Amino acid sequence: MAISVDWASWSEYRELERQTVKLPAGGDMPCAIFFPADYSVGMANLGLHYIYRALRENGAASERFFLSPIPYRSVERDTLLERFPLILGSISYESDILGFAGWLRHGGVEPSRRRRESGSVTQAPLIGAGGAVTYINPISLSGVCDFVVLGDGVGTAADLVRILRRGSDRAGTLSALAEHGAVYVPSIHGSGRHSLLPAKRDVSSDYGRGVWTTPRTVFGDALLLELQRGCVRGCGFCTLPSCFAPVRVRSLCRVKRDFEEAMKASEFSRVGFVTPEAGDYKNLEELLDFVSSCGKGVSFASLRADSITEKMMKALVGGGRHSVTIAPETGSEELRRKTGKGFPNSLVIDVLKMASDMGARKAKLYFMFGLPQETDEQLAEISELCVRARSETGLQITAAASPFVPKPGTSWAKEEFAGEKNLKRKHTLISRSFGGYSGVRLQPASIKEACIEYAVSWAGAHVSEFIAEETLTGASYKKLVCMTDRSSTGHELDMLGLRQAGTAGKGAP
Ligand code: SF4
Repeated sequence: MAISVDWASWSEYRELERQTVKLPAGGDMPCAIFFPADYSVGMANLGLHYIYRALRENGAASERFFLSPIPYRSVERDTLLERFPLILGSISYESDILGFAGWLRHGGVEPSRRRRESGSVTQAPLIGAGGAVTYINPISLSGVCDFVVLGDGVGTAADLVRILRRGSDRAGTLSALAEHGAVYVPSIHGSGRHSLLPAKRDVSSDYGRGVWTTPRTVFGDALLLELQRGCVRGCGFCTLPSCFAPVRVRSLCRVKRDFEEAMKASEFSRVGFVTPEAGDYKNLEELLDFVSSCGKGVSFASLRADSITEKMMKALVGGGRHSVTIAPETGSEELRRKTGKGFPNSLVIDVLKMASDMGARKAKLYFMFGLPQETDEQLAEISELCVRARSETGLQITAAASPFVPKPGTSWAKEEFAGEKNLKRKHTLISRSFGGYSGVRLQPASIKEACIEYAVSWAGAHVSEFIAEETLTGASYKKLVCMTDRSSTGHELDMLGLRQAGTAGKGAP
């Protein structure tokens, strides 16, 4: 159903939400939790569910805000943003930082920390952030945020509420936060050497499922259920192996208990497993049997071709999904081996055949381009694999090709970023190779988005300030990319004690 943008209440959304966890009502510390995307995307993010729950369980009156459809009123009570002295951003992706700054600006809150500190802004709220970006490069948030909670925010929530509740002045609160080893306070940690350490929580705790189910998410009414944090594989481009280490696996018993408790409290038709690669969870088959015996379907974010079993596919396709998603990353077997995914193209075809035989009609294949040492011939292999998949399986194939962006903390952090011009050339080659094959489609790629992602991933203090102070236009976006200096950011992370393997890289293209 289309929602009018001037719609003033979240009441219809609230009515559809079912809580799976009983939370204390009220609280004495009003806190706006903002997710920089539409409600349907934010509500499919388990991290948002966790931080909301952790703050509420520690007595903070947290309320949710989303970028759309109603950006400046809370979901819980339609409260206006201006009533909140504390705003926390839940930031999963680098480009979300731009969304966070823009949302603050349009909501009448000064997004620049420097300007708020200069005293020219009266009664500014305290602004913090947490989320996946903080594992990779928290300095990218320093232009906007007064403080950044590093790592798993659930483990730090009790300390955060205790410090914030003490109610001393702004400077006193920030000093107290800066003494917590998992909180980065840019105004205090901006100089000197420090030993910050992101919090890594024990996943066997009570936190393992989404707080709500609602049909209005991108995954439908799925119950979010966490299986594992961190990944045992070592794909060079991926942030999960190093930034989210160590691998922490939730026991089958714990996962089942979360599922059963959610069934008693809420309504949902399927379960969305939250885990890097579902096939790596050793009790997955038993869990699938259990979920199916309870009459629920399942969904996985993306499947790794070399770990898909018949039972997984049956659960996925039999559960009403007529589409499967696989990430071969590249059409070239040689290049794929270098990424850390050693499976051949024949395995991709076999998996898609299995999906087709079980009733799937469509497949989405994710690829990257601009990979290290990639040749133009290897780019053409993307369409070759897609065309082969179409002709041998009969599935409708949609290919999504995204530029490779080297990230801090990954083992490919030092690899070259191809740059706008080269990426455009490569994407043109890929598009041409797709020709006019029926049943095979290439989605458009946003090269500009990738350049922004690169710049924000490696944003040091100056770049982050620029993001907070500028509304990005065509010209300032190019300046943002030119300002990127990986070595300097590596040094800044090093000074905070946060340097990870391979952080120092080559300069901007
Ligand atoms: S790409 Fe997938 S398999 Fe590879 S490290 Fe990342 S999560 Fe693990």
